[in-house]
Amino acid sequence: RNDQLDQWDRENFFHPSTHLAQHARGEAHSRIIETGSGVHIEDRDGNRLLDAFAGLYCVNVGYGRQEIAEAIAEQARKLAYYHAYVGHGTEASITLSKMILDRAPDNMSKVYFGLGGSDANETNIKLVWYYNNILGRPEKKKIISRWRGYHGSGLMTGSLTGLELFHKKFDLPFDNVLHTEAPYYFRRPDLAMSEADFVSHCVAELEAMIEREGADTIAAFIGEPAMGTGGLVPPPKGYWQAIQPVLKKHDILLIADEVVTGFGRLGSMFGSEHYGIEADIITIAKGLTSAYAPLSGSIVSNKVWDVLMKGTDETGPIGHGWTYSAHPIGAAAAIANLKLVDELNLVENAGVVGSHFTSAMRDALGDHPNVGEIRGEGLLMAVEFVEDRETRRFFDPSKKIGPTIAGELLKNGVIARAMPQGDIIGFAPPLCLTGDEAQQIVDAMTKSVESVLGR
Ligand code: PLP
Repeated sequence: RNDQLDQWDRENFFHPSTHLAQHARGEAHSRIIETGSGVHIEDRDGNRLLDAFAGLYCVNVGYGRQEIAEAIAEQARKLAYYHAYVGHGTEASITLSKMILDRAPDNMSKVYFGLGGSDANETNIKLVWYYNNILGRPEKKKIISRWRGYHGSGLMTGSLTGLELFHKKFDLPFDNVLHTEAPYYFRRPDLAMSEADFVSHCVAELEAMIEREGADTIAAFIGEPAMGTGGLVPPPKGYWQAIQPVLKKHDILLIADEVVTGFGRLGSMFGSEHYGIEADIITIAKGLTSAYAPLSGSIVSNKVWDVLMKGTDETGPIGHGWTYSAHPIGAAAAIANLKLVDELNLVENAGVVGSHFTSAMRDALGDHPNVGEIRGEGLLMAVEFVEDRETRRFFDPSKKIGPTIAGELLKNGVIARAMPQGDIIGFAPPLCLTGDEAQQIVDAMTKSVESVLGR
């Protein structure tokens, strides 16, 4: 055992999303994770935890899958790397492109590979701009995103992300990014609004924005089928059916960011399928490999591809590529992962166990005076806390109710995520979760909530 790891971690490791003041005060401490199996991980002190957030909602098939480990090892031994620039391919990456298109909605045509969700969304924006350039309308460039949407933390994708933390101190968002209303019914501007009224309100906000900016300046709308990091929020009924005609009318492309919802999380292969979304581009990452290796993709529709095919020798090769695009090890991991998703029936399991999980959580905590809402779709679920249910008054953020409950849950053996904005505990366990494991999470959550807020 290396007893210096804690010290090396504090001295050398700049972690993502580090709270710099806490680090400076010497409060940074890492739980060092050593092994994982199924829905559990174990740290080096021997604590076994039920990971009800699947890492960062990515380990969809669960930990310790030897089939994927073997596929990675075999690919590494055979050919660890070759690039995918034009004129080159590997068996793994080409096979994977076919497997993805076989699973994607019918109107999809090609897949462009990246490494993670952020770079895939960067690719999408460049593709959309390129598309409009080929169509001779380079001024059609602005991108509409939603408040609370999460699309990554690069410069463009951080701009698209509708959470203040990702903007402040970086001079973001960029000027050509606009944010419209989040489809977050629980946080509707007026409590008296019905769900249908609220959908009309979201549409009216979008239409007003298009009118104000001019449709000929707007290239695309990007949204997660069900919101993730902004609070795990399934859309209100009829939202996508109402939004899509507006986009179509103004010739604005729709990018469905399925980094979280792709490959089964909602109980359908894609969130697009789940909600009847006909996207022009779909972003995939996380569940593509269950995070056994980094890999992402931009699935491009026939409509977009047909225009890209109008490129000429003058437009030349598309000036966009990464060294690790379609990395064979990521591709080998994805192939083995997608096979497991099929063999273990995980898409269906997410739907069945997910609805049991949400109703068990509602039975346990639905009438707690500080529970404002329990919402879920498949294995994406959130419990949102309020100080007062009647008026929907939120807790003062300084009370840190969300993080305190997440901390208590950890003591009770379950990892969930205190979402970054609001007192929201998010659950997105591996899709292999069983009914018994779902109940264990509910029991631990009930105990934790009661210890922080009483009954
Ligand atoms: N898009 C969505 C919907 C996400 O949830 C995330 C990450 O959580 C991203 C994009 C960015 O992915 P990555 O962190 O792999 O860059």
